[in-house]
Amino acid sequence: MSTPTAPANLMEAIVSLAKRRGFVFPSSEIYGGLNGFFDYGPLGAELKKNIRDCWWNDMVRRRDDVVGIESSIIMHPKVWEASGHVAGFTDPLVDCKVSKQRYRADQLFFAGVRIKNPEFGPGVLDALITKGRIRKAEGESLKDGHLPQSVVIGYVSALESERTEAELNEKAEELKKKFQVRGQLEYITTNSSIGLVRDMTTALSDEIDFIPSPATGEPGSLTAPRSFNMMFQTNVGAMTDASSVAYLRPETAQGMFVDFKSVVDTGRVKLPFGIAQIGKSFRNEITPRNFIFRSREFEQMEMEYFISEDADWAKCHEEWIAWCEAWLKSIGLPDSHLSRYAHPKEKLAFYSKGTVDIMFKYPFGVQELWGIAARGNYDLNQHATASGKPMDYFDEASKKKFVPHVIEPAVGVDRIFLAVLCAGYAEEEVKDEKGAVEKRTVLRLSPRIAPVKVAVLPLLKNKPELVAVARKLHAKLQRRYAVFYDESGAVGRRYRRQDEIGTPWCVTIDFETIEKDGTFTLRERDSMQQKRITEAELFALLDEQVY
Ligand code: ATP
Repeated sequence: MSTPTAPANLMEAIVSLAKRRGFVFPSSEIYGGLNGFFDYGPLGAELKKNIRDCWWNDMVRRRDDVVGIESSIIMHPKVWEASGHVAGFTDPLVDCKVSKQRYRADQLFFAGVRIKNPEFGPGVLDALITKGRIRKAEGESLKDGHLPQSVVIGYVSALESERTEAELNEKAEELKKKFQVRGQLEYITTNSSIGLVRDMTTALSDEIDFIPSPATGEPGSLTAPRSFNMMFQTNVGAMTDASSVAYLRPETAQGMFVDFKSVVDTGRVKLPFGIAQIGKSFRNEITPRNFIFRSREFEQMEMEYFISEDADWAKCHEEWIAWCEAWLKSIGLPDSHLSRYAHPKEKLAFYSKGTVDIMFKYPFGVQELWGIAARGNYDLNQHATASGKPMDYFDEASKKKFVPHVIEPAVGVDRIFLAVLCAGYAEEEVKDEKGAVEKRTVLRLSPRIAPVKVAVLPLLKNKPELVAVARKLHAKLQRRYAVFYDESGAVGRRYRRQDEIGTPWCVTIDFETIEKDGTFTLRERDSMQQKRITEAELFALLDEQVY
């Protein structure tokens, strides 16, 4: 029996496990790391490859209507002009002039600290007005003895997190104490219908100077938000002038649009059909954070599904959303952690017909995992205009020529990687063979993506007859699966080491194997149950579960 417990700080536990067991390391760690870049260690590289392979198999190989491509990371700079990235792939940036920290304005929240029926200690009101904590007009009327029902004594700010609201309220309490103001503090809430908390993109120009910087805690050092282009620039060729500027791609999707005609001409595809690709993308994120959730170099799995101009796009959109949800469940993400977010119509780009994000409940909040966008035929039209090459499609059945519309499911491999670690991680109290209670860390990864599928363990390493059988089985399994051979330490300890990295099964070669019927002990990770199994049964189990 086991009692699963969630560790107090799940993210800390996951980052520590990822480092300890070789899933993820900070990039260039011996030089102090580079913010927003990560390396995947031996187990991480396997897990990531399995996520990619599952997606490619299900999205491309097992479908008759989707083909795959691999386009280059650096493309002609005109691609990014036509796609709108040069002009518009920006995030709103706020600088702190004192600390030199930079923040994404839409992730920096602030609120006025409002006190009902305020009473000020001697000299406090004057100090607040002089320091600009209370606006002049409001302050003057207070001095005149005209007491308004409530007054803003200053501002508080906090970065986006699960605790934004709590943090703002704590800071508001501190401010009230600091200025010795009596009266009732109005509770600050992120509930948008009440609207007390706003992000910096909505700050009025006369408010900015009152908002404290998260770095210093003091107002006066934040700048107004400005647009920051997130594309990494480089130069192609020997010259480093304006004519050689190129970009590392910020998404893989443009490869599918630019190659659309080539695929139609060579790929024997007929509408509706999709073009998929997996590859690295690069974004100079202002605030990379939450481990691998938001990094500057990451990997995307995107697919452009082209449909006729008069197809029922809404139906097709819904079908792809459902496909993506089912796929996430097929690699082990629980329904309870998944939800949908439909972007409000007024926030969509003018060409977009609708976007739905599949959200995942990460320890730091519910966040976008997979975006599924109905983009009309904007991208193909943009490239047709900019390149002068037609991007239309001739439909044999209707004898009509048109520029196809597209549904685009786009997901990040690293975000899935983090999601499976978060959903699968547990610390449990279990009883060992002798009944003693001990702690085990277990990673409940689906056999489809687990970095090691089976660990092969000879009961004793000093018994050559056991070792020989174990080595033979290991070599046989290795031809088809990622397996691990481990002969050191007590069997219980070897099980624990495998539990921690998510290995679904261990097989132990014991005396019964060599003296009786050749069966092994199969130990299952989640239930920790053991049973005897033949080699044929083991291969049948793997064949069914690892696909
Ligand atoms: P966000 O709003 O979180 O910045 P986005 O809407 O800009 O994401 P898209 O441009 O739709 O993201 O990219 C598609 C997918 O690529 C996202 O759903 C996400 O899984 C992944 N992704 C985007 N940016 C990053 C990043 N900086 N690090 C890791 N994955 C990312």
